[in-house]
Parts: sequence; C-alpha cells; structure tokens
Amino acid sequence: MDLNSPIQTIPGIGEKVLEKLDRLKIKKVSDLLFHLPFRYEDFSNIKNIFDLEAEEKATITARVLNIGNKRTWKRKMIITEALLEDDTAPIRAVWFHQPYLLQTLKKGLWVNISGKVSADKMGLYFSNPVFEVLGSGESEGPPFDKSEGRSFSFGETLHTAGLVAIYPETAGLTSRWLRLKIRGILDNIGTIPDFLPNFISQKFCLINLNQAIRQIHFPKTLNEAAAAKKRLAFGDIFLLQLFVYNAKQKNKSKPAAKITIDLFLVKKLIAALPFQLTNSQKLAAWQILKDLEQPSPMNRILVGDVGSGKTVVAAIAALNVASQKYQAAFMAPTEILANQHFKTLTKLFEKWPIKVALLTSSNKLPMSDLGKVDVIVGTHALIQKGVRFSNLALVVVDEQHRFGVEQRAALLRQETSDKKQGETNSMSHVACRMSQKIPHLLSMSATPIPRTLALTLYGDLDLSLLKELPKGRKKIITKIVAPINRDKAYEFIENQIKRGRQVFVICPLIEVSEAAIMSEVKAAAAEYKKLSEKIFPHLKIGLLHGKLKPAEKEAVMKSFKDKKTDILVSTSVVEVGIDIPNASVMMIEGADRFGLSQLHQFRGRVGRADHQSYCFLFTESPAKATSHRLKMLVESEDGFKLAEKDLQIRGPGQFFGKEQSGLPDLAMESLKDTKLIEEVQQAVKLFLEKSKLEDHPLLQQKLFEFKRNIHWE
Ligand code: ADP
Ligand code: MG
Repeated sequence: MDLNSPIQTIPGIGEKVLEKLDRLKIKKVSDLLFHLPFRYEDFSNIKNIFDLEAEEKATITARVLNIGNKRTWKRKMIITEALLEDDTAPIRAVWFHQPYLLQTLKKGLWVNISGKVSADKMGLYFSNPVFEVLGSGESEGPPFDKSEGRSFSFGETLHTAGLVAIYPETAGLTSRWLRLKIRGILDNIGTIPDFLPNFISQKFCLINLNQAIRQIHFPKTLNEAAAAKKRLAFGDIFLLQLFVYNAKQKNKSKPAAKITIDLFLVKKLIAALPFQLTNSQKLAAWQILKDLEQPSPMNRILVGDVGSGKTVVAAIAALNVASQKYQAAFMAPTEILANQHFKTLTKLFEKWPIKVALLTSSNKLPMSDLGKVDVIVGTHALIQKGVRFSNLALVVVDEQHRFGVEQRAALLRQETSDKKQGETNSMSHVACRMSQKIPHLLSMSATPIPRTLALTLYGDLDLSLLKELPKGRKKIITKIVAPINRDKAYEFIENQIKRGRQVFVICPLIEVSEAAIMSEVKAAAAEYKKLSEKIFPHLKIGLLHGKLKPAEKEAVMKSFKDKKTDILVSTSVVEVGIDIPNASVMMIEGADRFGLSQLHQFRGRVGRADHQSYCFLFTESPAKATSHRLKMLVESEDGFKLAEKDLQIRGPGQFFGKEQSGLPDLAMESLKDTKLIEEVQQAVKLFLEKSKLEDHPLLQQKLFEFKRNIHWE
C-alpha cells in the first residue's frame, strides 16, 4: 500500500463503502489521509468514577458489570443500560436506539467511556457516551497504567481518552469509522515524504509533512493540532502561489502584439470627457498602457467598486489598440450590458475614425463585416463558432466573475485558431496574422477582492485597483428596516416615485441550485403580485428574473430605463453593471441572506446621478435587523473594507466559485489568514531566489497534481 493506491486496497472496504467514500471524493489512500478533521472532541479529562461531577466531560476506564436492552414503558424506544465500575465506584451508562451494542459491549470487558456526565435522582450516569473496548478485555485488572494517559498496553485508544478528531461525514460513514481506517493507514504507510523544501520548513518553523498528517488526525494537544494544520495550510498555499507564479511566467513567454503608447491620442480622449479622471483611473490606465507595450500578453485585472468608472479606463486602452490598426473586443455577461457598453463606446469614439460594432444573439453581425470593425462589443455570442477576428489584440472581459474560465480562454484562443483562407480586409495587419500572437487580456470586476486574496490569485503586478469613486457622488443613505417599519418604507418609496424617481426591489436569495432558481423566480413573481395588486396598484411595476428569455429581459430593462416603469422587482440576477441614473431607492428583501459584498453591489445600482439615494435592507425577523453584519453595511461605503469583513465572516468561496476553483477545503479556509498568506509569499520568494523547481522533483510532481485539480488558469 502506498499513498497512490486505490482506497479499496485498505482491508474492509467493499462496493457499498466505496460508494460512500466516493461521496466524500475519497478515491486514493492519500485522499483519506488528507480528509482532515474540522474539530476535535476533547475527551482528555481522565478521571476515577468516584471523582466525577455532573455536567463535566470526562473519560473513565471501567469494567462492564452488567449490560442489557429494555424497552421504555410506551415500548417505543430501546434503551441499552450498562453498569460499570472501576476501583473507586460504580456508574450507569445508557444508550438509545442501539440494541446491537450488546454484541460489542459484553459483561466483564474493560472499556473506556467518554462523554458528558449527567445526573438524575438516582445519581450520576453517562448518556449516549462514546465507548472503546480496551485490549482483549480478558484481563483481571485494567489493561494499562492510567498515568500514561491515552496509551495502554495493547496500543492506543482512538475514540476516547484524548483529543478525538471529528470529520466531515456522509450517511453511513462516521467519524469513528474514518478514525479507525486512518489509524490503520498511518500504521502501515511508513514515512510520508515532504514536498516542501527543507530550508523553507526550517526558516518558517514548520513541522514536516509526515508529522503534520499524523498529528492532525491524532493530536495529543490542541497546540499539536494547530501546528499540524498550519503546516498543511502552508503547503497548500505554497503550491497555489507557486502555481500562479508559473502561470504568469508561462504567459510571459508567449508573443503578443506590441501596442505603443500614443500619449497625444490618450490626452485628446481624456480632454473630451465631461469629467476629470480620478487618480486611480489615471494610474490604472497607465499600468494597462504600459502592459500593452510589452511583447508578451497582458493578463491584468481591474477591480473597482460599482460606479468607480472602469469602462472609460478600458476605453483608453481600446483607443490605443484601435488607432494602431488592431482590434479590441469587449465581452459583457448580458445583452443589456453589452448594449450599454456599445452606446458608451460609440459616443466616446465618435470623433475618431473608429468603428464600433455590437454582436449579441439578437444583434447578429455578418461575419464578413467583423474584420472591418475596430472595437467589437458583445456577449457570449463573441465566442460562438464561426466568429473570427482578423486582428484581435485586446480582450476586455467585463464583470469577469460572471464568465467561466473556459469562456474567457475561448476568446483568447480566437486569435490562434485557424484563419479562413483568403480572408482579407483593409484593417488586417499582416505581421500579426502570420504569427501566433495572443491577445492582451483585461478582466474587470466590481467585486472588490480582499487584498490577500487578490495577491494570491493574481499576483502583485497584474492588479489595478480603482480605490476612489468619482468626485461629487452623494453618500447613499443605508437603513435597516425591521418588519414593523415596512409600511413607512413603502410610503417613502411612493414619495420618491411621485418626485419622478425609480425604485429597485431585490427578492431574497434562495441558494444556487436549479430548483432554487425556480423558487427564486416564484418568490419574485409573488413579490411582484403583492406590490402591483396590494401595495402600489396605481404604479407601474416590472418583473425581472433569470427564467425570462433574453428578449423579454431586454424589454423589461428597456421599459425601466425609459422610465415607463416605476418599480423594478428582480431576483438577485439583476443585471450587474446596469446604469439607471434616475433610480434612487434600492430595496432589498431578506437582506440578511446576502453577503456584504453582494449587498454593496446592489447598493451601487443607485446613487449614480445627483439625486440623494437610499438603500433599504429589509430583514425577515426583528432579530436579524440588529445583525452586526448589516450594521457594517450601514456604517461603511468602502467596498474593499466590506470585502475584508465578508472574507472573515463568509469565507473566500463567494469571491470565486469553490467548485470552479477546485481548491482543497483547508486552502480555501486559509485564504482568510492574512498572516499566513504573507508568510507564504515570503517563502515563495525565498524559494525562487535560492532554488530551482527542477531540483525538487516531489514539489514538481505535487504542483503538477495541483494544476490538474484546479480549474482556472
Ligand atoms: P463601473 O466601474 O461600475 O463599470 P462605469 O464605468 O459604468 O462604472 O461608470 C459609472 C459612471 O460614472 C458612468 O456614467 C461614467 O461616465 C461615470 N464616470 C466615470 N469616471 C468618472 C469620473 N472620473 N468622474 C465622474 N464620472 C465618471
Ligand atoms: Mg461596469
């Protein structure tokens, strides 16, 4: 048996168990070893029966004097009752619904009993305690010297008398079972080789992998468990960061079109804007232009709060690209957003000989025309079969988290895919067509990612942040509305509408499965009915949800944009990035169900013009209205700060899909740990300075496996 053996190699694993293990994604021996506990039961308080006190958690070693099953007087439940005794006193233990215990817990055996001590009028007893039969159980006296703690002459206890690991379980596979099997593997596997270079472990005071694995499953103290956990997390994050670094290096080795900076042009565009760029916008634009000058493809992410003005920054880059006879593509997650970008860019570039085109499923463009445009804006339609660019040098992906990795990759592959024979057009640039150049990639996201996370996922150099909002934006007044104040809020909304404003109503989030999408749609439909029939029968109300056809969505949004509807009821799929300056109220139902970052995003939908704007957070119960989390939203308008909080409270999963990332649970959890992330950063730097990957075959192999499991590039 070695780490890579299939899990069936372990004795006692048949078809049925195999299926259950599969549910926990355990296929190999190493998978079981890396199935880590999420907490420990502390049974280390070892006592004589005589010294036990009610309510304490304790372990005793005792002999079974008597044991039997009986039914309760209503004959509904079977109770197993045992009388136990050590040198000091007797005590009772009872178990419910487990008549089969009689087969293991036999009269005369020596056992450990761990659990909480209860008391009734007959004295102290254990209720449903954990038990462990000691040794053969045949001996006259206790089979070990109690002063040695959990060890005894027949081996080590697994389930009692110490810290006991509790694992993620699945129906029919208990922590007790997992513990037993893991013990078996650890006793037979030999030393587990460490992939972290020795000098790194020493420098950062880490225990080795072999020790860490043994210690995380069977720690003697919580400190031991913590040291083990730290080592394992360090290893995961080390691999992740090394992987990101390698991917960047690989990207750098590919060719891309060099776009020289045309400062004159850029200045002209900026001068023509109806506003002044913020400092962050200037810096980001400069970083992007500098990247485009390189002969290797840019892979930069531009992160900025809703309304921070990312579009114009991307437009500056696109202008440079287009002026040098290359093409730029903007990909947006929805048709509405693509339309909006198309309009914005058309207007921005109207004074230049730059052709902007729109390609969506409802706005098809003759493929022969594609070569003739400079900037092409679109949806997923951009990556459909048959779409061929002639000279693509820049890809801008807006709201990048809404696209899968595959979709982004597909657009980048465009340029290297086969070109149709005889394809000619005035814009095509011979040099580019001859080589296998990769377009530059600019991803944009309105989800402010906590800094540690961003650094880990994207690295330092390729991240541009828009930290400030354009000047003159009014603070959005945010209020938590308890159920009792609902009517007041409706009154307020009515008033706003009378003044000509418009209102968003977001319906509660109901999980993410397909079935849930349906129930979300139902909830939105019900809310729509309530508002349009009972609360605001005299107002015009629109309904938007994920099950509408694109054309229907389009119509609903257009009607809202054209001020033909007063209130837009929507599920959480409300079009990200959509710009409705006239909307002044964002009302969120079931606000406590959303993450802070997402609430902040919704809030950013309003307050885009001069009108004072409001965000109302409705909660389902009065208790939730006092939630600390929601209060933070009221107090802070800093998306990055809220993202940090969100990371601490809800974990990193919401910043990128966990399923999509394929990261181990421990790594996901560790992404919250700023100190660890920074430490690993130092470690990776040190490693790259002092050593080469080729000299560490095990690390190389681990990295390879890591890449296979992880689903982004
Ligand atoms: P987001 O970052 O959410 O994509 P947009 O690019 O849609 O933001 O910009 C939001 C609005 O702010 C747009 O109407 C845009 O014209 C405007 N805007 C962008 N930059 C500035 C600025 N520096 N000053 C004032 N308004 C700006
Ligand atoms: Mg945007």
